[in-house]
Amino acid sequence: MSDCLFCRIIKREIPASIVYEDDRVLAFNDINPQGPTHVLVVPKRHIATLNEMTADDDQIVGEVIRRAAAIAKERGISAGGFRVVFNTNRDAGQTVFHIHLHLIGGRGLGWPPG
Ligand code: AMP
Ligand code: ZN
Repeated sequence: MSDCLFCRIIKREIPASIVYEDDRVLAFNDINPQGPTHVLVVPKRHIATLNEMTADDDQIVGEVIRRAAAIAKERGISAGGFRVVFNTNRDAGQTVFHIHLHLIGGRGLGWPPG
């Protein structure tokens, strides 16, 4: 989608600090990090929110989750722990309507979240 921020990052129309890329997935550092590691892992296919997910998206969302775990392992935070989050719509504070998995770690994380 031409007016989607993350589609524009995927197309390299907007710069980002990219940490991983393959044919289907892109991962980049969050511009406003909430921890020592804060990476956004996105499918290259535009899906606005989890509410728009279909069975056709099961594989790509699985890849996004596995990629987040792989990045956590690379960063040395797997054993200590990390959090992954898909914010969805208003009450969760979603601001970019292209699904993205937040990978946050490198510090103790409170629960429940705010
Ligand atoms: P959410 O609130 O779950 O929709 O998360 C959107 C995230 O995108 C926030 O954590 C923002 O800091 C992050 N963000 C917004 N613009 C950019 C950008 N240009 N590059 C990297 N991260 C961004
Ligand atoms: Zn998009």
